[in-house]
Amino acid sequence: MIQSSPLGRAELALSRRRLSDRLRAIGIRDERVLEAVASVPRHLLIPEALRGQAYKDVSLPIGAGQTISAPRTVAAMTQALQLAGSETVLEVGTGSGYQAAILSRLVARVVSIERVPQLAARARTALDHLGVDNVVVHLGDGSAGRSADAPFDAIVVTAGGPEVPQPLLAQLAPGGCLVGPFGAREEQKLVRMRCDGRGNFSREELGPCRFVELLGTHGWAAA
Ligand code: SAM
Repeated sequence: MIQSSPLGRAELALSRRRLSDRLRAIGIRDERVLEAVASVPRHLLIPEALRGQAYKDVSLPIGAGQTISAPRTVAAMTQALQLAGSETVLEVGTGSGYQAAILSRLVARVVSIERVPQLAARARTALDHLGVDNVVVHLGDGSAGRSADAPFDAIVVTAGGPEVPQPLLAQLAPGGCLVGPFGAREEQKLVRMRCDGRGNFSREELGPCRFVELLGTHGWAAA
């Protein structure tokens, strides 16, 4: 059940604008991404008890041992995708639905996959409530991607895996790129893979990061 916040609309809008300004100050340069941060109501995508922290630049628990990433992380990953506006994007790890809501403002279509049923259901409800109509949330193992909807112009993986899943690379459109955290369980590197359209991929490392685990056939084995 989504309830409105005790804060007024103007106050919430101001908090979002301040968050966006903070992200600009720490180096986010893509104005479309900054505008999306200033417009997506993050407080409606997190548990009600945490709403007072919605516009702090922190990750927060969302249940089932999972987290909504800090806005700076969402913004940096979204910026790294270098989106133009007409793309179809695959997101692996819907979580709260926040990253999907940000992407929905920037591209034509988002296909998002979440493995935890309660999170997938809650994100679907929240995105409907926000009137987001270009995001589809599927329940399943996103480490294998979603061949039925491939190819994707961009793929964002929002949970940390041991290595870039091969099925995801196979589902990238020519010229497309994949951004996600890969490496050890304790710490990963944010990686960008770009497909040249002839079956070759270039790999860039964008910095250290720490994410919850990507579990699944092409991720870590679930305990
Ligand atoms: N993008 C999310 C957001 O905006 O709230 C944050 C996601 S949270 C850091 C990572 C999510 O990935 C968790 O919800 C987790 O259940 C999910 N996950 C982990 N392994 C997965 C897999 N193989 N397929 C789909 N989702 C997965």
